[in-house]
Amino acid sequence: MNDVITAIATPAGIGAIGIVRLSGAGCIDLVAPLFRSASGKKLTDFKARQMVYGHIVAAGRNYDEVMISYYRAPFSYTREDIVEVFSHGSAIALREILQLFIAHGARLAEAGEFTKRAFLNGRIDLAQAEAVMDMIGAKTKVGFDLAFEQLEGHLSAQLQTIIDDLTDIMAQIEVTIDYPDEDVEIIARQAVEQKLTAIDGELAALLKSYEVGKIMRDGLAIAIIGRPNVGKSSLLNALLRENRAIVTAIAGTTRDIIEETINLNGIALRLIDTAGIRETENEIEQIGVAKSKQHFNSADVALLVLDGAQALSAEDRQIIDNIGDKPTIVALNKADLKRQIDETEIKQLLPKALVVATSALQNDGIAALEAQIETLLLGERRLGEGQVISNVRHYQAIVLAKRHLEQALTALATGLPLDIVDVDVADVYRAIGEITGHSVADDVIARIFEKFCLGK
Ligand code: GDP
Repeated sequence: MNDVITAIATPAGIGAIGIVRLSGAGCIDLVAPLFRSASGKKLTDFKARQMVYGHIVAAGRNYDEVMISYYRAPFSYTREDIVEVFSHGSAIALREILQLFIAHGARLAEAGEFTKRAFLNGRIDLAQAEAVMDMIGAKTKVGFDLAFEQLEGHLSAQLQTIIDDLTDIMAQIEVTIDYPDEDVEIIARQAVEQKLTAIDGELAALLKSYEVGKIMRDGLAIAIIGRPNVGKSSLLNALLRENRAIVTAIAGTTRDIIEETINLNGIALRLIDTAGIRETENEIEQIGVAKSKQHFNSADVALLVLDGAQALSAEDRQIIDNIGDKPTIVALNKADLKRQIDETEIKQLLPKALVVATSALQNDGIAALEAQIETLLLGERRLGEGQVISNVRHYQAIVLAKRHLEQALTALATGLPLDIVDVDVADVYRAIGEITGHSVADDVIARIFEKFCLGK
């Protein structure tokens, strides 16, 4: 497994510095003859983890002027020998150096393979490995902080205590099975129930934290709806002006749908202007409308824009009818003009919606609108004490763990023998182990690391 792998670790594009890294037994000896230091000393004459200046030279050809640093196992990212070559950030230089290393016996790394090795060699657990990917991909500071906490091992530590408790419980059950005694059994059942109930509470808290964790990590989508000319685009622009826009490449964005991402107090908010959700006979328009509806359905929240200076129209009502039970914020726009719209009527039609007056033109009420968006998004879902999970894989594992745990509690309550309870407890253990990688199957590991970028 620890053959020498190599990859370009810096992003494609032009940069001052680019990094080619290698990992695996023998990688230092592979690079050493290809490196010429300024003083003429060999790479291995320098200390590990020191920056050395020189050139990459092979077959009389000078590839680039570089800084180089090597690490000896186990004191490295992967716990294997590692070499990092800091060249000029030219795509040409990087590729040529990479190919040189491959020609000398290294293999091009698969996506995520460096981090996978860090996991397989026991430096980090699976949850921490996933945190690395989340940190790299984080869109906001909040998302980054969350992933960083996970990398630091806070979540892993909590899960480890749960796993330890489960192990205790199983050990206790084994004892009563091996040495049957009625009194011992009664005490054991009580102790097991107590411990399982405590774990159940912890799992419930983790599941609840996912509501916020998911938002912190992935952000949320808001669909902006409303009939033409009420000020949807103007409002979108006002929100973009107020907030730092996040530049994201969105595949498949069509002309009909405008999507922008903003950073609202650390939450990545995708604002989707679904121009045309309306009834139409025109076939081409119908396609556009169908697409808009799709986007609307996938959004977490609807922002309904109404023209406050006009009475509610039939078209407005039709749009309101289509909202269904999606959480909604109503912006009564054009608040700089004389109010004509009847707010009580809107409250009747959309009793749960939050209503706020805005003037996109004069940039009024935008902060209030943002506050409403935040209230609706987070609501009571405040960060409590304890860990936050943000990864759907972790969420699913905990849902499964909790289900098995409830089965174990039911088995106890209905007086089933302890060896049956033991089976359920083992299932809880397995489900939690999936998160940290304690007994996780190879295919799950492969799936997780495939999602990484190259060189990580
Ligand atoms: P959309 O079709 O819903 O996207 O609406 P637009 O944003 O294109 O705005 C339609 C018209 O309303 C434009 O002439 C805007 O300048 C105007 N408008 C937008 N917001 C306001 C507002 O708050 N007050 C006033 N008085 N006019 C506005």
